[in-house]
Amino acid sequence: MKPIEPVMIPDDETVARWRSDFPIFRELIHGNPLVYLDNGATTQKPSAVIDAQRDYYEHANANVHRGVHELSQRATDAYEGARERIARFINAARAEEIVYVRGTTEAINLVAQSYVRPLAKPGDEILISAMEHHSNIVPWQFVCEQTGAVLKVVPIDDSGALDVDAYRQMIAERTRIVAITHVSNALGTINPVARMIEAAHARDVPVLIDGAQAVAHLPVDVRALDCDFYAFSGHKAYGPTGIGVLYAKADRLEAMPPWQGGGDMIRSVTFDKTIYNAIPWKFEAGTPDISGAIALAVALDYVNAIGSETIGAHEAGLLAYATDAMRAIPHLRLIGTATEKAAILSFVLDHVHAHDVGTILDQYGVAVRAGHHCAMPVMQRFGVPATVRASFALYNTRADVEALLKAMAHVQEVFGQ
Ligand code: PLP
Repeated sequence: MKPIEPVMIPDDETVARWRSDFPIFRELIHGNPLVYLDNGATTQKPSAVIDAQRDYYEHANANVHRGVHELSQRATDAYEGARERIARFINAARAEEIVYVRGTTEAINLVAQSYVRPLAKPGDEILISAMEHHSNIVPWQFVCEQTGAVLKVVPIDDSGALDVDAYRQMIAERTRIVAITHVSNALGTINPVARMIEAAHARDVPVLIDGAQAVAHLPVDVRALDCDFYAFSGHKAYGPTGIGVLYAKADRLEAMPPWQGGGDMIRSVTFDKTIYNAIPWKFEAGTPDISGAIALAVALDYVNAIGSETIGAHEAGLLAYATDAMRAIPHLRLIGTATEKAAILSFVLDHVHAHDVGTILDQYGVAVRAGHHCAMPVMQRFGVPATVRASFALYNTRADVEALLKAMAHVQEVFGQ
């Protein structure tokens, strides 16, 4: 048997080196060094990503797939080459299974409108979970309104873990799709997606995984998972905003009608008939985010060079350290304590609104998210209007956790706790 290689937990010097790749950390916030703990909302960008966008505009800017001139060729090669690297990053079988979209939200809407809507009949079911981001709720509500299908919601327990037994029972004859998040943005819960996909496939139900909070934090292998669709956003994985990916198995994409019409998604057009382009281009109408796609591939190369396991191990260490320390703070309640968790720490303080906590932390240079995290049903499930969320990335350090704790002590002083 092949020995399992131990995952290297990086030392402080290594993390400091990674951190120095991100120019934003030279910024001062209200006179303090930046402590960026809002990675669930968006990550910071390494110089390699920023340079890739600049480089594209300085040396290759032209439209793709259209020109006979040198610059158009450079742009097309870089854009399509990026697709191949992105496919390799998530271990897709073919580059054609990578559809460029604006982000996770657009990817899910595309599947909802182009894959599920044409199939769904009144009374059919769409299965999601109680921990979904609005992006994985509202597009399905649209489909329900449009077709008469019904939204079914798998419950979660008090720790924020999915009720897997209920899930198995809820996969039914009329389930048209399962759409589940890989990692909850509000709770940090990591769902057992491989087992869940297997259970759905046993009943011939396709599965979409919302990978927005996963790709930058844990290894993702779409072929090992065997998911039918996997959606993620570039900006949460050290890439630019405005670009994301829908991975879909080629046969699913072939079966889907195009979603938006326009240039590039066609092979030929007459007023009588339009013949669509091949996959994935039939889903990419109009001029795409060329520099974004190129820079996204650079971001994923950056993650790959460090290694997703190494990043995950580093972030798990920070989560454990921060969780222990936060538990010791009086009047503080953690929201999301599942055993399998990514490095997201949501909490509330008795009698203090999350926005007030966030505003005070900001005065000390500590950036967190405060609010419902676009997951209002999760807030309702835990009976809170909002939480404060600290979410970690590869460049965070124990010193960042200590800065958070110090700033939390000021919050408590202000509120007399
Ligand atoms: N899904 C999850 C789990 C998320 O955390 C987010 C963003 O926070 C989204 C979907 C939506 O991502 P985007 O706004 O990049 O489309």
